Amino acid sequence: MTAELEAQLRAASLRVTRPRLAVLAALRDHPHVDTDTVIALVRADLPTVSHQAVYDVLRALTEAGLVRRIQPGRSTARYEARVGDNHHHVVCRSCGVIADVDCAVGHVPCLTASDDHGFVVDEAEVVYWGTCPDCAADRISQ
Ligand SMILES: [Zn+2]
Ligand SMILES: [Zn+2]
Ligand SMILES: [Zn+2]
Repeated sequence: MTAELEAQLRAASLRVTRPRLAVLAALRDHPHVDTDTVIALVRADLPTVSHQAVYDVLRALTEAGLVRRIQPGRSTARYEARVGDNHHHVVCRSCGVIADVDCAVGHVPCLTASDDHGFVVDEAEVVYWGTCPDCAADRISQ
């Protein structure tokens, strides 16, 4: 698995470093986590890594397209390693949990604007909002 992550970094012309590998591995196992969670996960492997190092790695990986940064509504930024497939997210309004939803169309921009105002549209950001099963069950039991 590490060899696969190393190959991803090399393909993106990024030097292979332990913090970069640790961040990629953390996001592969834990999609849609915020920066603090990434830091905690990486520190389980590399106890001495600094906050700043993790921020820098997240920025480099996002710029290289290996990591996708999402920020539904006003929530804090979350990161995931599932990139390049134009998938969407469903977000619970109560607890903020996020799940992946495959794009029904499968390619960007995904939606055709009724009036594009002359813009060349290359992406439509679709977020489904609702109540997750756990929160819905809580409501019924109250
Ligand atoms: Zn919920
Ligand atoms: Zn996702
Ligand atoms: Zn779509």
